[in-house]
Amino acid sequence: MIVDVVLAARARLGEGPLWDRRAAVLRWVDIKRGEVHRFDPATGEDTSFEAGEQVGTVAVRRSGGLVLATETGIVTCAEDGSDRERLHEVATNPPGGRFNDGKADPWGRFWAGTMVEGTDGAGAFYRLDPDGDLYTMLTGVSVSNGLGWSPDGTTMYYVDTRTGGVDAFDHDPATGDISGRRRVVEIDRGWPDGLTVDAEGNLWVALWDGWAVRRYTPDGRLTETVEVPAQRVTSCAFGGADLSTLYITTARTGLAEEVLARQPEAGSLFAVSPGVPGQAPGEWAG
Ligand code: CA
Repeated sequence: MIVDVVLAARARLGEGPLWDRRAAVLRWVDIKRGEVHRFDPATGEDTSFEAGEQVGTVAVRRSGGLVLATETGIVTCAEDGSDRERLHEVATNPPGGRFNDGKADPWGRFWAGTMVEGTDGAGAFYRLDPDGDLYTMLTGVSVSNGLGWSPDGTTMYYVDTRTGGVDAFDHDPATGDISGRRRVVEIDRGWPDGLTVDAEGNLWVALWDGWAVRRYTPDGRLTETVEVPAQRVTSCAFGGADLSTLYITTARTGLAEEVLARQPEAGSLFAVSPGVPGQAPGEWAG
């Protein structure tokens, strides 16, 4: 499986890839630069707006516009970043952290978690319901990261990177309740970061410092490795009209110049055709 550079973005911390079906573009963020990007694969054009603070992830809002999980809270805005409105202020404990990865589910809820760089257990994991209420789902999280759902909606997968693996929860699509946390994948190559679940229910896990995205069955068996010419592989998401392209984000942050010289494509947006489509991405229904 060959990955292509589709955008030589040189992102500091490229993250949060999300296929926006209505606009037919890939949205993604550069967390450290506080940029929300819009990549159009039809033209190769990438545009962005500044969120005014670090931004961990972006989701599409069903009624129009976007929802962002930022350094300090949950924010809605128009597609171009205008009309910004803060729904919730969220602080880490101790303060000084920010939102990291997050995603809207197929039932209209938006989930996102926080982290404090260098301090374990200071983050939490939240669920924003369509009525705008925010629930704390997990506390004591170190680096809240990838998440996704089984095609039947009864399982949610979740990564707290510092635990070194992927966990599963029983998930109730009717209520958004989660329970029964258990480990399904132990990562032995770098650290688990973002993830997505394909239409067959398999997990594609981006490996920070692992130079790859790996595919695992729902019971944790490794079935595929997509090598990426950048060590800090941050996340992945299916996109394109038929959801058959796997887009992969990467980072340059924290790497010395002499290290980056050996991986000049670090920070790029990559794509690969893995031979299986993704699930339809969710939207926040608020
Ligand atoms: Ca991440």
